Amino acid sequence: MKLSKSRNSSKKNDKPEHLSAEAYDRRAAELTELLKACRDLSDILHPDELYATFAGIIRNKFGISKLGLFVYDPEKETFELVFSSGLGKLNFKFKRGRKKLWETILQDKPFAVVDPKGNPLFPKFLEKQDLKILPSRLWAPLVMRGDVIGLLTMGPKAGNQPFDDFDYYFLQQITAQAAVSINTCRLYERRKREKEDLDKTLQNLSLLYSIGKAMNYISDLKNLLQYILSQAIDITSAEKGSIMLYNIESDRLNIRVLAGLEDTEYQEKVNNSEIRCRSFKPGEGIAGRVFMTSQPMIVNNIREDDLFIESETSYVRSIACIPMIVYSDVIGVINVTNKKKGKEFTDEDVEMLKAVADQAAVPVNKAQLWDMAVTDSLTGLYVRRYFMVKLQEEIHRTERYSKRLSVIMADLDRFKKINDTYGHDAGDRALKAISMFLQKNIRDVDVIARYGGEEFVMLIPDADKEAAFCLAERLREELAKVTIEELPPVTISLGIATYPSDGTDLEELIKKADTAMYAAKQQGRNKAVKYSSAIQLTADKAAPTA
Ligand code: GH3
Ligand code: MG
Ligand code: MG
Repeated sequence: MKLSKSRNSSKKNDKPEHLSAEAYDRRAAELTELLKACRDLSDILHPDELYATFAGIIRNKFGISKLGLFVYDPEKETFELVFSSGLGKLNFKFKRGRKKLWETILQDKPFAVVDPKGNPLFPKFLEKQDLKILPSRLWAPLVMRGDVIGLLTMGPKAGNQPFDDFDYYFLQQITAQAAVSINTCRLYERRKREKEDLDKTLQNLSLLYSIGKAMNYISDLKNLLQYILSQAIDITSAEKGSIMLYNIESDRLNIRVLAGLEDTEYQEKVNNSEIRCRSFKPGEGIAGRVFMTSQPMIVNNIREDDLFIESETSYVRSIACIPMIVYSDVIGVINVTNKKKGKEFTDEDVEMLKAVADQAAVPVNKAQLWDMAVTDSLTGLYVRRYFMVKLQEEIHRTERYSKRLSVIMADLDRFKKINDTYGHDAGDRALKAISMFLQKNIRDVDVIARYGGEEFVMLIPDADKEAAFCLAERLREELAKVTIEELPPVTISLGIATYPSDGTDLEELIKKADTAMYAAKQQGRNKAVKYSSAIQLTADKAAPTA
């Protein structure tokens, strides 16, 4: 066994020692102990466990009560006390180039910091670093390839015994192992963090990818907005949210969908455009500001923000608001509010929301244009042109599967009188209310459109004449009971035609349903009439061909 030259040892002895058998035994035992200690250290991957184990080895070996382990934090550029016995928290700033002391440390060997009389060898340094309170006897540097990664400071041995050569040897070996282990631990931790970051990024990317993909399959504006909002809420762990779209005619941001509200009934009504929430002018409130500046905003303490406008319907604590931009025009904003568990929205949330908003903007814009093209602005129902496309599609499908479908034409009774008596605006209000009533009282698979002024047309897939007649009767009866503010009840006349018995192309079906509807008017209105050859005969008689 050869001990390293120990320049700091009090006993300088370069010659090999001649040891007694007893001394050999002791050394052998100590070497075994060292080997085991090194093994223990090399097994640990968690830094805190490593520091504690290392300190434990030193304490047990030398019976010392006071020690401190500093590890260099490259980000903070300081040595941080990571483990201590009998010491408080200490900040230890230590820069390269501290001449004698630094050179000594770089020797990578334990060295005494007091002279044999117990006087500090580097008093100024200790004073400057506020390390006077450390009753240090020895310092053992932890060096890896010329980098000082840590420093162990040790108090006196039990019974104030001097440190001998083997103590220095043991210390040098064990600190070398500790340095390697700490370095490994740090690398491991760093990789683990990098991996976690990467995993998260990958997870988010795949989420964004699936969101983007899903968006392309949703052409209906309301469903699309609801999907986007639910993803935005999930991705940021928010409680609720809304999407506002800009309306160029009114120059306002209107809430188009809500999600996560406690008042689900209210939410449903807003989402179905049955009621309108407060709208925002550009520049007004947080959404208005985001709209104007095209810049996302996070407000975590909303009550302290001047821009915030209190909502009457939902409690808001914090908000993240992101613009949806298409070709540098802001088309709307996504709001998420109240991050769960009382947490705050972060820049990372904004990044994710931006990615969602970027993906959403074009499909939303497309769906909005589509929505504008296919829906009637007054009633919110489909326009006639779109209905014809849907009907044609459905006829093909019905043909293929040898099924039936029915068409119902409906016209409000004496509606002119409503206009004449109550004014055109009241007439519009009635038209809106009746449209909403009809829409709500048919199935999701049924399609309703505004055919003309106060005429509606409905496509009822998979329904024979009797089934369609039942529906028409139900609508007629129920509508007569609907009250529209300040207006008398409005009744409706309906005509039903069925594929294929009454016609096999769309014009024919529409025409026959219209003939039946005309018959209903003839029979006194507030009626539903099924098309038949008898009806046709009467109609032909009433309007002889030119
Ligand atoms: P009936 O159908 O029972 O024979 O009588 P009617 O008075 O309803 O007659 P018709 O269907 O021919 O009249 C349509 C009236 O509906 C004309 C117009 O005053 C009204 N109307 C059509 N479109 C609108 C609209 O967009 N808003 C309002 N307020 N009224 C409309
Ligand atoms: Mg009418
Ligand atoms: Mg009419």
